[in-house]
Amino acid sequence: MKTICCPICQSRRSLHLWSHGRDRFLMRVGNRNRIRDVVCSDCGVAYANPQLETQEIESLYTGFYREEDELGDSHFANKERQAHDRIGWLLARCPLNPGRMLEIGCSEGTLLRQLRDDHGWTVSGFEPNSYSARHGLEAWQLDIEPGFFRSERCTDKFDVVTLIHVIEHLPDPTAFLVEIGRVLNNGGYFFFETPNMESPRVGRISADLFAAPHLVIFSPQTIERALRKAGFELVALESTHNLRGLARWRGEQLPDHSAKPVQALRTALRYRFWAVREFQYFATQRLKSSLVQAAIFCLGEQRYRQFRPRR
Ligand SMILES: [Zn+2]
Repeated sequence: MKTICCPICQSRRSLHLWSHGRDRFLMRVGNRNRIRDVVCSDCGVAYANPQLETQEIESLYTGFYREEDELGDSHFANKERQAHDRIGWLLARCPLNPGRMLEIGCSEGTLLRQLRDDHGWTVSGFEPNSYSARHGLEAWQLDIEPGFFRSERCTDKFDVVTLIHVIEHLPDPTAFLVEIGRVLNNGGYFFFETPNMESPRVGRISADLFAAPHLVIFSPQTIERALRKAGFELVALESTHNLRGLARWRGEQLPDHSAKPVQALRTALRYRFWAVREFQYFATQRLKSSLVQAAIFCLGEQRYRQFRPRR
């Protein structure tokens, strides 16, 4: 464990936000330490401090991150549906189609497989979890590199680089964004999805939002700051919510609350036992200092299937 300064602005001033009890991810790797999350007094980003050592962080993903019972039929059916939704969202905004995509932290590669088979894209991925990587390699013949992403491991450049719920797991997200810029083609896009710190939190949401693997939790303002620092320029930022996805999962219909946050919050309270993170945000970014153009599309948290009703 190590005490760190703010990973975005390097400030040492912070306020206590959340203390971990017995964290299920830490327990899996035999770590009984308690981790605190703080919010930076200067830039407002939330981050874990003290932070796990790099080796401890990496051990969370290489073998233990997914429990076997999370990889049943419902897991894959859910991922197929999420991938379909994400691709629909992405292709409606990305003028490059088909293109070449790299997904970092691609799990078994559901999104990559759909893009390849249904839309003719050329796809590659990095995945540190050997079980997930092997599934994509063997069952779907996907080009998945087992292990952690390093830009020097890429021999190609890509039109789109994707991170789905990855950036919040990184000890130095700004440095990682710089690495992403190195493997993007000119005019390429960057697409990501991450929890939104500014979501109204209900039910048990804090326990999941501040689970040990989440090292940094962004708001639209702090992610923009990190991206600017990495050489990106903000073009657009949107906010929405994912109650629709939750309702669909439960076989219900919801009216469009995107323009009515109070109504959306009321609906969220109905779903408090399911601890939905109802606001998503999108941003489009362009690299300021080079010819590379990128887009950031943040969709927000959709891992609601992991929640269970309170007893
Ligand atoms: Zn800061």
